[in-house]
Amino acid sequence: MKRFYLTTAIDYVNDVVHIGHAYQKVVADILARFHRLLGEEVFFLTGSDEHGGKAEEAAKRAGCEVADFVDRVVSGNKKQLSALDICPDRYIRTTDKDHVKQATDFYLRVKKSGDIYRDKFSGFYCSGCEEYKTVADLEDGHCPHHPNLSIKKLAEENYFFAWSKYEDFLKDHIKNNPEFIKPQSRAKEMLAFLDQGLKDISISRQNVSWGIPVPDDPDQTLYVWFDALINYLTGAPKDFWPADLHLLGKDNTRWHALLWPAMLKSAGYPLPKTIYAHGFLTLNGQKISKSLGNIIRPQELAEEFGSDGARYLLATAKTLSGDGDISWSKMKEKYNADLANGLGNLVARLSRLCQLSEQEFFASWPNPEKVFQGEAGQALNNYQILRSLKLIWQKISLIDQRLNRAQPWKIKDKKKKGQLLAGFVDDILLVAVMIEPFLPRTTKIIKETFLAQKITPPKTLFIRKK
Ligand SMILES: [Zn+2]
Repeated sequence: MKRFYLTTAIDYVNDVVHIGHAYQKVVADILARFHRLLGEEVFFLTGSDEHGGKAEEAAKRAGCEVADFVDRVVSGNKKQLSALDICPDRYIRTTDKDHVKQATDFYLRVKKSGDIYRDKFSGFYCSGCEEYKTVADLEDGHCPHHPNLSIKKLAEENYFFAWSKYEDFLKDHIKNNPEFIKPQSRAKEMLAFLDQGLKDISISRQNVSWGIPVPDDPDQTLYVWFDALINYLTGAPKDFWPADLHLLGKDNTRWHALLWPAMLKSAGYPLPKTIYAHGFLTLNGQKISKSLGNIIRPQELAEEFGSDGARYLLATAKTLSGDGDISWSKMKEKYNADLANGLGNLVARLSRLCQLSEQEFFASWPNPEKVFQGEAGQALNNYQILRSLKLIWQKISLIDQRLNRAQPWKIKDKKKKGQLLAGFVDDILLVAVMIEPFLPRTTKIIKETFLAQKITPPKTLFIRKK
């Protein structure tokens, strides 16, 4: 059986996830459901990145122990994800025992390859990014992503990973494997970065106690990125490595496309097939951020639009590769147009017509593998989430138009009317199969409604918003 292993970024635990994070998880869940419908053995991994100074500081601000604090955030995250019916096969935590063991083993393998050495480090460090910065990275002495945080000057002895050794290997791998970094523009960006020359990177910390101890020097802990990336390997069930897809935000491209493959190569593991760096969602034209007070939680979105409605609105907010903006008013408009009036109205009308016809129906459930051979499935195979949905909604609107033209309500002959409606029932069942990865609850209702011999209208699928 074909396997499909996909992962999302694991989120920092300084706060519970918002819809910006949830966008990525919804996309991953859609892809996981899609590959399952193709009959593949799927493993979908998501989770949280719990070590490092950032978690420690957030816990301090909240006035509690780090371990308790991260537990609380993780249980909040799980609630948020389940509000959108996001069903990972595992929610991995970098504090999980098997991960601590995996990260330790991994470090030792890299060391055995001769790629770890001890050296003095001095430079700038942004605790928001958990990243070293050069003078060129800073704007007015601050990190451009975290203008409110002060930049720390660090001088300590650390363990370094010989990243520079893999410069040519990475260039060749990116050039020879067009599927490796998606979209194409990010691959170009990575090659341009490599052309400037890779520098070795410090992979341990002296003064961060909340982390995985360096195996042969417990005074230091592993750098949070080195630790976190290994989660993808920890989470892979037997025979599922290498991953088919790492899905992540575009700000993390460098770590995933350049550091992680070099680490894997050094440790002697095969590289993932595809690294997809998606664009960002903004809310009312602004960055989604708790400190800006510009935030929506997944639960709020699901309370307003239902979980399927919320999934649809997130999936259609933008193309996967590009950026996009959402607002409550735009979402309400789209919800009314596409879900309440579009799909919801068609299902209500057709089921009512079937009921009034007093005929019996004997429809069957289409084979998803066949259905997804069409354009909508091909789009999903290429990670074109928005395009896939647009194609499906074109089909919905065509069915609606054909129903208007056929005017079954004017047909007197009961048998003829039944035959005509049976054709439309087959069409709506095809739609139900196609929307299953996106709107699983709606699919279930349409399936139950139209596979019945005596068709009766279901409860309103999507209640119109005023
Ligand atoms: Zn920063």
